[in-house]
Amino acid sequence: MKKVVTIGEILVEIMAVEPGDGFREPIALVGPFPSGAPAIFIDQVARLGHPCGIVSAVGSDDFGRVNLDRLAADGVDISAIAVDPEVPTGSAFVRYRPDGNRDFVFNIKHAACGAIAPTAAASALIAEAGHLHVMGSSLFSPSVVDLVTEAIAAVKGRGGTVSFDPNVRKEILGLPGMSRALSRVLAETDLFLPSGGELFLFAEADTEAEAVTRILASGVKAVVVKAGAEGARYYDHAGTVSAPAFPVTEIDPTGAGDSFGAAFVVAWLAGVPPREALISANACGARAVTVKGPMEGTSTTAERDAFLAAHGVAV
Ligand code: ATP
Ligand code: MG
Repeated sequence: MKKVVTIGEILVEIMAVEPGDGFREPIALVGPFPSGAPAIFIDQVARLGHPCGIVSAVGSDDFGRVNLDRLAADGVDISAIAVDPEVPTGSAFVRYRPDGNRDFVFNIKHAACGAIAPTAAASALIAEAGHLHVMGSSLFSPSVVDLVTEAIAAVKGRGGTVSFDPNVRKEILGLPGMSRALSRVLAETDLFLPSGGELFLFAEADTEAEAVTRILASGVKAVVVKAGAEGARYYDHAGTVSAPAFPVTEIDPTGAGDSFGAAFVVAWLAGVPPREALISANACGARAVTVKGPMEGTSTTAERDAFLAAHGVAV
């Protein structure tokens, strides 16, 4: 099996217990939960039994420990997670508003994950990678952009593959160099995993089909559009397949896209046909939204299969 490697931020998430507006008075909080989009992604890859690792950095503190312990216990190779004694582990405080929007207080850029740097351990892990997954949200840091650029060249140079989830919020799109970095990654991407709206950041078009056609023409082999409670759609040069979401009660949407992407990548690497790959990924995405905490809803193979069986899908 091709080892899957990702590069990017690890943080803890601390959540307000009750919905409301921001953090301007003392409120009840729950956490720390292990988090960070690439960390959630790689945890889900590991829990499906696929070899994988992450290049990242945490502080020498309990927030780092929470993440190292969880990722190691779930089977992620943590050898390339640097422990930085100078800065704390990244964190995000999040509170849902009554309308479902979220307020955040982030400590990322000036935390350990803002200083992810090339190390011997990172080079060693990248040397073992047969597949690289890139999270657009991780490209906020110039040193991650450099590492990703080198890793893409190394992995593709030995016949490996690249998947890319733009995972961009408008807050980070305006960062200097961001849109150029995103376009450069897309140019090297084999499997592209945007959310519906993100597609149009990469291709000027009026419809999804037109945007996908342009992206496939640029050399991307397959595009999977994540559509939340509507499920997901797969496109390649041979055609298109869609699969509806599983009906679940959404408790916390954070991490759904990352879990979905991980499950899809694992299936795609194993040569599973697109329809079945979508069903596996929809199951992992659906399970993710039913659990509070960004990484708490990742699925083992057995948990995914039990969920599928409970929803009438023969495994
Ligand atoms: P995020 O970046 O916020 O994690 P995303 O936009 O990348 O999310 P979504 O489309 O929200 O990704 O979710 C990914 C997948 O998870 C969906 O394609 C679907 O399979 C599943 N999913 C998400 N929300 C729901 C839901 N409410 N009910 C069932 N499945 C869901
Ligand atoms: Mg996403």
